[in-house]
Amino acid sequence: MRGAHAVVVGGSVAGLCAARVLAGVYDRVTVVERDALPDGTTSRPGVPQARHVHALLVRGRRELERLFPGFDAAMRAAGAQELDFARDFATLRPQGWGPRVDARLPTLYASRGLLERVVRDLLRRQTPVTLRDATVVEGLVLDGAAPAAVRGVRVRRRDGGAPEALAATLVVDASGRGSRVLGWLEAAGIPPPAEDVVDPYAAYATRWYQAPPPASRPAEWWWRGVWIDPVEPHHPTAAVLFPVEDDRWIVTVAGFAGRQPPTDVDGFTTALERLRSPIIADAVRHAAPLSPVHGYGDMRNRFRHFERWPAAPRGLLAAGDAVCAFNPVYGQGMTCAAVSATLLRATLAALGPDHPELPTRFFATQAGFLRDPWDLATGADFRFGTTAGPRPALAALLRRLADGLFEIATDDPDLLTRVGEVLNLVRPVRDLFLPDVAPLVAAGALRRALRPRRVLRQLPAVPAP
Ligand SMILES: Cc1cc2nc3c(=O)[nH]c(=O)nc-3n(C[C@H](O)[C@H](O)[C@H](O)COP(=O)(O)OP(=O)(O)OC[C@H]3O[C@@H](n4cnc5c(N)ncnc54)[C@H](O)[C@@H]3O)c2cc1C
Repeated sequence: MRGAHAVVVGGSVAGLCAARVLAGVYDRVTVVERDALPDGTTSRPGVPQARHVHALLVRGRRELERLFPGFDAAMRAAGAQELDFARDFATLRPQGWGPRVDARLPTLYASRGLLERVVRDLLRRQTPVTLRDATVVEGLVLDGAAPAAVRGVRVRRRDGGAPEALAATLVVDASGRGSRVLGWLEAAGIPPPAEDVVDPYAAYATRWYQAPPPASRPAEWWWRGVWIDPVEPHHPTAAVLFPVEDDRWIVTVAGFAGRQPPTDVDGFTTALERLRSPIIADAVRHAAPLSPVHGYGDMRNRFRHFERWPAAPRGLLAAGDAVCAFNPVYGQGMTCAAVSATLLRATLAALGPDHPELPTRFFATQAGFLRDPWDLATGADFRFGTTAGPRPALAALLRRLADGLFEIATDDPDLLTRVGEVLNLVRPVRDLFLPDVAPLVAAGALRRALRPRRVLRQLPAVPAP
């Protein structure tokens, strides 16, 4: 499309991924980001969540490599660690310690700041996209004639410059959970799409540590990360210890069902000691704290249904958390943002950039993909009786999946891989109901009935498989 200009609001993971695919199609692509973007990995105010643990699912790793060839190598060169969750983590499931097995699903563990920096650097290197940082989008340029159309954005530099209109053929809202785009449209008389909100009343508290040097770690520490599941109703508190670049640990405590983890140092230390296992409390006694305790409160799942939005204006797309934000405990947000970009690329390839059905087709495809992660996250959140909102139809089944199928799967490498692939969004949920899975589940259940449970009361002290 000659002279076409696409503007992306927000230069975080969803915005950078969207810009990557627009770059091949529009003459010019501009990403407008409110924050001054750092050269390194330091945190910035627009993504306060970057101070908390960020898991990258296997699907996300693959999609980011596809969007930004060289992503994997750049992450590893910068110190990201490659781990297999079932082999390298000490995992305390509701029933006991999980056995140490190879799920054949290795992924990368790194800070959110590193991931964003690597993606941003690759975008700069691989595309002619313009990144306008320290610039706030303050509103939309709207053509009010029916049907309404978005014709650009109004921006202002943070250092006090004059307001400016940025004309655009396409505007993509990637400004996150707190997006104001729908509010601007509503003020102009365009009603927003319907939304679903599922609130697990969850919160995070996180502290960073310098891990002890390998030589001074106790011999029994075979694990490289720790995961402790919550158990309703007596232990609605989960925790993780994630290894990231520069030999650091991120320790996050997650409270569900209204249990707010403390954000003062003494309270946080006590919360670690009161977990279902003292393993993380013991580990951090060997480590040096690098940060205060950071809190995060808004963990609601929110799905804005752009795919059924009768008032949708032309010229506007949305992606990432601005469309669907998840309870972050399940680690889905960055992966979904990357998948959305791939879906946008396919929709653009099928229709072209000036097709009037581009928004409706893209929103429908994106929503079709988001259904699974939404059901997985909200289904698991309904483990807690206090969770509020519309229950997914498969909630009871998905809850059983979270609680039971994983346990059976630890006996069977193929089934474990299959369950892991679903939770990592590599396969759709329906693949758990394929005819080849039912016999595996039945065989697993039989084995479990015939011999003692492999879920262990003690942390396994086994050598690497
Ligand atoms: C506590 C927490 C933990 C998480 N853990 C995980 C995890 O383990 N794994 C995972 O995959 N995901 C996780 N997520 C989700 C993940 O952070 C997001 O899904 C991911 O960053 C994609 O978000 P986004 O790009 O849509 O929005 P965001 O990352 O929120 O970015 C929005 C961007 O838009 C900018 N912006 C906003 N308004 C304007 C404006 N008016 N003008 C210009 N710029 C603007 C902001 O400055 C920001 O850069 C977590 C989220 C939270 C809250």
